[in-house]
Amino acid sequence: MDLAQRDHNVIWHPYTQMKTAPLPIPIVRGEGALLFSEDGTSYIDAVSSWWVNLHGHAHPYIAQKVAEQLQTLEHVIFAGFTHPAAVALAERLLQILPQNQKRAFYSDNGSTAVEVAIKMAIQYWNNEGQPKRKVVAFRDSYHGDTFGAMSVSSRSTFTEPFWSYLFDIEFIDVPIPGAEEETIKQLEAIAKTGDVAAFIYEPLVLGTAGMVMYTPEVLDKLMELCQKYSILTIADEVMTGFGRTGRTFASLYLQHQPDMMCFSKGLTGGTMALGLTTCSSQIYEAFLHDDKSKTFFHGHSYTGNPVACAAGLASLDLLLHDSTQQSINRIVAQHAAFAVKAKQLPYVKEVRQQGTILAVEFEAGGTSYFSNLRDTLYNFALERGVILRPLGNIIYIIPPYCITNEQLEQVYQTILGMHGLVAAVQ
Ligand SMILES: *Cc1c(COP(=O)(O)O)cnc(C)c1O
Repeated sequence: MDLAQRDHNVIWHPYTQMKTAPLPIPIVRGEGALLFSEDGTSYIDAVSSWWVNLHGHAHPYIAQKVAEQLQTLEHVIFAGFTHPAAVALAERLLQILPQNQKRAFYSDNGSTAVEVAIKMAIQYWNNEGQPKRKVVAFRDSYHGDTFGAMSVSSRSTFTEPFWSYLFDIEFIDVPIPGAEEETIKQLEAIAKTGDVAAFIYEPLVLGTAGMVMYTPEVLDKLMELCQKYSILTIADEVMTGFGRTGRTFASLYLQHQPDMMCFSKGLTGGTMALGLTTCSSQIYEAFLHDDKSKTFFHGHSYTGNPVACAAGLASLDLLLHDSTQQSINRIVAQHAAFAVKAKQLPYVKEVRQQGTILAVEFEAGGTSYFSNLRDTLYNFALERGVILRPLGNIIYIIPPYCITNEQLEQVYQTILGMHGLVAAVQ
């Protein structure tokens, strides 16, 4: 029995309707931006394997560092004990994050990094003796799949069975160009109630919403309001972190600094699962107390896993290397040139770019065609050896930085070729 069939007999895949989904493609090897299937077919990983991969697959330098760590220390309990990789990774990240970030709290993935930030924010106000109930988030946001993260994410059909279990959130509209003033008004109206603990946001780019983009200027205004009304700010950089937006962190485009930040996807270069929440001294100090009930009682079995931290350190070495920074600039320039071409296609509603992230939004056509179009575009790309996962009628590229110009050109040509399929559903 081949691997896909064996998989089909035992595995339940994420975000997959197992009744109708085609058999998965078995991948047996990766190198650079390419993935190779069992039968030798190669695919360009234009979505960085769900936005995690930074430097290409099976990178020899990361592999070496992970192997060394595995032979030295694979794991140790992270309460009462520590180890070199966790300390070094925190030290190095705090040096390149917005200056006010002073403490690092490890967890397992993006959702847990968000859970930790929300719990820190709510307990912060409790510890300060001024409990606040409300959390503000963008209406179309995505912050993860666990209950707290779901609560602060958009109320979509994906989470509908759980709506009644999710805590109340005050949603504000995403301040896309033209809608800035309205969002500022919405936030101010909520802020004036005085019961707002925190505002959580994906800075500059809302990934799952369809690579929806807004400016640093309007985010700065929202953060200024938060400061004025003592609302803690949480930058969810799980997707935007580690170079995706052109700078190492999206928050580095801003004048204001967030109180807390969440990281995961690119943190280990896409090698291992690792989550990280960082915070300012103000947050941290509110938990220092002789009264033990003020402690942050949160942790996971694999908190600060040494192998994951070693992968994080190796990935950071590569990210900060000149050649990677040049690759990021190269991708930014290539995307900008392609955007000009893509904008001229009929049935293209909008082309958006922020750094290495590029999105092409097609006219949706009749809504009944919506999901069909998504699958048609997905298969069209696969048949041409390119992995693209459209979000409805939006196709996006978020490539590993090692992707070559030739590979990028193949991805662009694939997108240009989709135009006929889109025309067919109009
Ligand atoms: C993917 C994502 C998460 C959740 O991360 P997981 O590791 O999948 O749990 C949270 N926030 C944002 C912005 C994300 O893109």
